[in-house]
Amino acid sequence: MSYEGKMLKDFKMPTRKDVEEALMISLFKHNGIVKEFSADEEIVNELADKFNLSEEQRNAYLKTIYRKENREKKSLLWHRLLFRAADSLAKEKLIIRPTQTFNLTNKREWMLSENGFDKVLHTLNIPISQKNILPTKSYEVQKIVNKLKETPRPVNYNPFDKERKLVKVNRETSIRARGFRQAVIEAYDFKCAVCGLKLNSPDSSLWEVEAAHIVPHSAMGKDDIWNGLSLCHLHHWAFDVGWFTLLDDYSIKVSSRLNLLPEFYGKIGNYEFLKEMTNNNSKILLPDSKEIFPHHNSIKWHRERFF
Ligand SMILES: [Zn+2]
Repeated sequence: MSYEGKMLKDFKMPTRKDVEEALMISLFKHNGIVKEFSADEEIVNELADKFNLSEEQRNAYLKTIYRKENREKKSLLWHRLLFRAADSLAKEKLIIRPTQTFNLTNKREWMLSENGFDKVLHTLNIPISQKNILPTKSYEVQKIVNKLKETPRPVNYNPFDKERKLVKVNRETSIRARGFRQAVIEAYDFKCAVCGLKLNSPDSSLWEVEAAHIVPHSAMGKDDIWNGLSLCHLHHWAFDVGWFTLLDDYSIKVSSRLNLLPEFYGKIGNYEFLKEMTNNNSKILLPDSKEIFPHHNSIKWHRERFF
């Protein structure tokens, strides 16, 4: 038995397979991304807690002697075990290594792959269809997010995808749709562009906001960040049915049909959610970078469609 193997046995450490499974579940709970393992990283302690590791198990270290340099290097047994588990998952292409994800996020992180995402959903008995609403990112989805955020903004943007046929949802279109959703809600800091609501579920697994298409899929709208808006459920609905639209300066214009509504319509207690949008004559919240603001060609289509 190797020195490391003996140490793992002596300290009654969890098996690598068990650590692999726990790591996959943690990755899922952290939306698909965890930092590289090092001393004060939360993930290292979180997983140790999961296995109820004693102080002795957490602090046990391995000694490596470098004869040539005549020095001794100590490394924590628990860190080594975590790394071995991650390394084995990376070899199976279930997770992506920090050296590779660094190119996308500029951070040294382990990230779930699409295959890893599928596998963890299976382990947790969560239907694959949930992928479309979960905030979990995969490496493949992050690549789409980057592409959507970094493509130079066209002056004459065409928001219609003439090629879009009624394609069946396949792996590629699902990754693309999820990339659009992530890119849009991240760009708006997970807030509704109209009311600013930012809220997730108590278990942090879902965001309330949705990525709305300005030109919808039904009108051949593209999955581009320039054709997207982050909206809460209520404002998403109101936008889709034409209760409000946007002007070129990104201010909100509410339908004049508002005046035809019975008095008690559209009220939440004393709060009149449609009138409130005009009263403030406010502009929507926008992303930090102008490059990814909604495009005027998309907004124009929406305005002309309803107003
Ligand atoms: Zn809202």
